[in-house]
Amino acid sequence: PVRTRFAPSPTGFIHLGNIRSALYPWAFARANQGVFILRIEDTDEERSSQAAVDVILDGMQWLGLNHDEGPFYQMQRMDRYKQVVQEMLDKGLIYPCYMSSAELDALRERQMAAKEKPRYDGTWRPEAGKTLPPVPAGVKPVLRFKNPQGGSVVWEDKVKGRIEISNDELDDLVIARPAAADSDSFVGTPTYNFCVVVDDMDMGITHVIRGDDHVNNTPRQINILRALGQEPPVYAHLPTVMTETVDEHGEKHVSKMSKRHGAKAVTQYRDEGYLADAIVNYLARLGWSHGDDEIFSRAQFIEWFNLDHLGRSASQFDEAKLRWVAQQHMKTADDALLAGLVREQFARRGVTLPALLQAGEGDARLIALCALYKDRCATTVELADWLAMYVADVTPPAEELAAQLTEAVKPAVAALAERLTTATWDKAGIAQALKDTLGEHGLKMPQLAIPVRLLVCGRSQTPSVDAALALFERDVVVQRLRRA
Ligand code: GLU
Repeated sequence: PVRTRFAPSPTGFIHLGNIRSALYPWAFARANQGVFILRIEDTDEERSSQAAVDVILDGMQWLGLNHDEGPFYQMQRMDRYKQVVQEMLDKGLIYPCYMSSAELDALRERQMAAKEKPRYDGTWRPEAGKTLPPVPAGVKPVLRFKNPQGGSVVWEDKVKGRIEISNDELDDLVIARPAAADSDSFVGTPTYNFCVVVDDMDMGITHVIRGDDHVNNTPRQINILRALGQEPPVYAHLPTVMTETVDEHGEKHVSKMSKRHGAKAVTQYRDEGYLADAIVNYLARLGWSHGDDEIFSRAQFIEWFNLDHLGRSASQFDEAKLRWVAQQHMKTADDALLAGLVREQFARRGVTLPALLQAGEGDARLIALCALYKDRCATTVELADWLAMYVADVTPPAEELAAQLTEAVKPAVAALAERLTTATWDKAGIAQALKDTLGEHGLKMPQLAIPVRLLVCGRSQTPSVDAALALFERDVVVQRLRRA
């Protein structure tokens, strides 16, 4: 069975570029009835924070990227990593290295001077018939992996194609730092690449789908996995998500998406009122395609997702396109879902809804309002902005109102207010009252509709005026018209 994972480091608030690395392994697991695992790589204790973990958990839950196993925390698995280090030590797969940092620096300098790539020279690597230097007293060694010599590591990357790295390029990786001076063990804290390998092995990962900033780690991880008797998983290294920023001189730069370059935490999009499905759709397309399809549901995405249509080149985050995708999702969103989200928006604003719109008796009306206004919005924040006129009184823009509410129009508005006190209170009844008033006063629709909108809605553009008015309470409309 397919087993995938998302393995974020909680060292900053994850942004949309990061979460895309969760979306694809999640979708791949779902598409193949597989298992999706969440693993928090928190070994960088100084830079990791609980707040960053919370954004990961909240953001994934909001987007519906639910995991089947985990979250696992690497800091809680240290004993397991050390156990595997010990096993490898016992099998002679790794060895202690006593080279001091001063010696390492000197080695590096010699290599740089000779225009060679700096690499560990294998001084402490045990070989048959080789005499190792005398072990210095009172020094704890690092542990190094005995990387295979000769040959190469080859894998068929699902995004990048065949990659071959010669083993001569890889030196003997440090897989555990020196143990504490007073410890009676050799085994100190395991290093990042080693923890990843043990996790991928223990968690039975079949497909590693991750950012291509890890592509250089892959040959090392494959060699360690093989030494542990494991067949490597399938790898898919995703190209970077880029973003455009404008500097203080007004010049545009394209750089890797990052917090430093203005990327927002994923949960901020929830707070800004984006629909989770819109974000999923947008991110899905940011590095993957299904023909010309731009707008699709979560279920379609899962049905269509495969690793063969991952893009090879870097994609660029585009706020305008995200907005467009969000608009398309608002148009087709379920009205009851929107009503619930709009309620949340008003609650966040500390606004109490009038009885007419409260949960229970007001549900139908709030749903009807969402249906009427959703086409005009990209987010539920914008939807709540539109619906604010149904929640609290409005202030008509004075100048515009003065221009529209001419002496010729005023009596018609007054007459309409009177008619509406007895009209049937629905769209058709209001339309009839408007029509009768227009005939009586010899006016054309816009001459009456615009001032009516300004007075009742506080703005000159709304959906058709009869539909917009019908969703108010009769008394509210009559009273707002009478202030003309
Ligand atoms: N923790 C790594 C990161 O956040 C991902 C490691 C992996 O996927 O193998 O970039």
